[in-house]
Amino acid sequence: MRHDLQKISLVVPCYNEEESIPLFLERALAVAATMQRVTFEIIFIDDGSKDGTLQVLRTLPDLHPEVKYLSFSRNFGKEAALLAGLEASTGDFVAVIDADLQHPPELLPQMYQGIVEEGFDCVATRRISRAGEPKIRSFFSRRFYRLVNRISETEMVDGATDYRLMTRQMVDAILALKENNRFSKGLFSWVGFSTKWIPFENVPRVAGETKWSFWQLFMYSLDGIVGFSVKPLAIASLFGVLFFFLAILGAVLIAVRWLIFGDPVQGWASTICLILFVSGTQLLCTGILGQYMAKTYLETKARPAYIVKEGKP
Ligand code: UDP
Ligand code: MG
Repeated sequence: MRHDLQKISLVVPCYNEEESIPLFLERALAVAATMQRVTFEIIFIDDGSKDGTLQVLRTLPDLHPEVKYLSFSRNFGKEAALLAGLEASTGDFVAVIDADLQHPPELLPQMYQGIVEEGFDCVATRRISRAGEPKIRSFFSRRFYRLVNRISETEMVDGATDYRLMTRQMVDAILALKENNRFSKGLFSWVGFSTKWIPFENVPRVAGETKWSFWQLFMYSLDGIVGFSVKPLAIASLFGVLFFFLAILGAVLIAVRWLIFGDPVQGWASTICLILFVSGTQLLCTGILGQYMAKTYLETKARPAYIVKEGKP
């Protein structure tokens, strides 16, 4: 027989969040107290923080029995922290939520309703504004979603955050994907299941600062593209075909010109430009190939996505 009380696991990745964690916990517990039909489990994953995050986490389980924590041996990145949290979770429902309170825990009751009453498998949040974000970041972010949705079968929703509540069935489906190079936004979408989107206003983080530099986000977006589409490889081959025909066309043009005008030596500047253009494109294509090879290489090593140093699930 099924228990009446169902459990929600909150998975909270933390990297240098010593100031945010107490504030987060206070708000999360306040929300939990208002939800009578469910119990909570809060799993903090210390992703190799360099500040006092781990010290803060150590004090929590004694004060709050619903709190657990894991601590990595070094910084493995948010994706690894999410994976560890999902693996450690035992709830009937699992929510993924940031520690910096940019994801308001107050939305949880509404998300829970979406699943138990409206029958969705997942309720996810979507930012309707990018207020407080550097303009250039918003610009590239939009480009990224345009591009990835055009070249990948997996739909990625612009403005989708990682903040979502999922059923155990969906979480297990995500955990069955064993790839090491994880791009959660893509994985969440790839596994399918019905998702309800809740819009919310962007709020600034409560303390500390963002862990993502522009360059890191750029590399992360490459992960998203390489992880969910092989179209760039096809584009590389298309370049080859295009150049082949251009070369034939060029040869014909030159032959005709030679027949009409003879062969005065000129045009070295255009030759140089052509060489640079073609070799540049070749390098680009080799680079694309390299991206896929590098990912394959990393996957074949099959190293663990993270190493836990302290705490047990
Ligand atoms: N985070 C993490 N490992 C990292 C970077 C970030 O666990 O290497 C966590 C961080 O503590 C926060 C969440 O991931 O709870 C989102 O990070 P952040 O707020 O810096 O990203 P942003 O909201 O600016 O996209
Ligand atoms: Mg944040």
